[in-house]
Amino acid sequence: MIRVDNLHKHFGGFHAVDGASLEIAEGSITGLIGPNGAGKTTLFNVIAGRLPPTSGAVFMDGEEITGLPPHDLFHKGLLRTFQIAHEFSSMSVLENLMMVPGSQTGESIWSAWVHRGRIRAEEKALAEKAREVLDFLTISHLTDEKAGNLSGGQKKLLELGRTMMVDAKIVFLDEVGAGVNRTLLGTIGDAIQRLNAERGYTFCIIEHDMDFISRLCDPVIVMAEGKVLATGTSSEILENEAVIEAYLGR
Ligand code: ADP
Repeated sequence: MIRVDNLHKHFGGFHAVDGASLEIAEGSITGLIGPNGAGKTTLFNVIAGRLPPTSGAVFMDGEEITGLPPHDLFHKGLLRTFQIAHEFSSMSVLENLMMVPGSQTGESIWSAWVHRGRIRAEEKALAEKAREVLDFLTISHLTDEKAGNLSGGQKKLLELGRTMMVDAKIVFLDEVGAGVNRTLLGTIGDAIQRLNAERGYTFCIIEHDMDFISRLCDPVIVMAEGKVLATGTSSEILENEAVIEAYLGR
């Protein structure tokens, strides 16, 4: 589904991504691991259109998508989850989900007046969809909670929920487990597996928690110093000499 070809991203003279090539198969839950500073987040940002690459190419379903803005990638079903922005923290969980599809109809006061019937119908459909998403993620009890009051793990679930409002094909998740308690991490893992199995989502996940990666991801791609060091199942990766050396440091 995704092919990254000899990608470079330089910041001045520093090569954060230094000739990375990799593939993400459709239907997979692919893990991306590596020591801090390996270039994982930079790679994600280039794939997701947040940063232009210095050189190299990215393809989705055989079509070149290098450097396309996030908005265009969004329409192709490629999403990178982001933390709930500060300005949305005083809105409810339901409202946060309803914001995502970006209804065009209600933009001006004039069109709002002309199309008021249609807007009400759209809002009702959106709210219904948002409630289904919350149900799927087993967080219906948080429907009316302000997003700013959620715990770290609940926020991650809401971020995942936002991708479900637009029927994503591939989702890039950055550090799912950071600061999330074990129980919620399990719920997040279950949601990822169910989205994969039942809705055909492909995932690429950056995560430091190897238990989480081992449970969910096949294959696992290891990056170090801007390059792909190894690809394999989690057990293959854990036995790979080069990987062990990269983690222990030279
Ligand atoms: P990882 O996600 O694997 O920890 P990053 O992609 O965040 O790695 O960072 C890779 C390297 O690139 C780090 O050394 C980081 O300091 C550097 N880097 C990332 N973004 C920038 C930037 N905007 N300007 C300069 N250096 C950057």
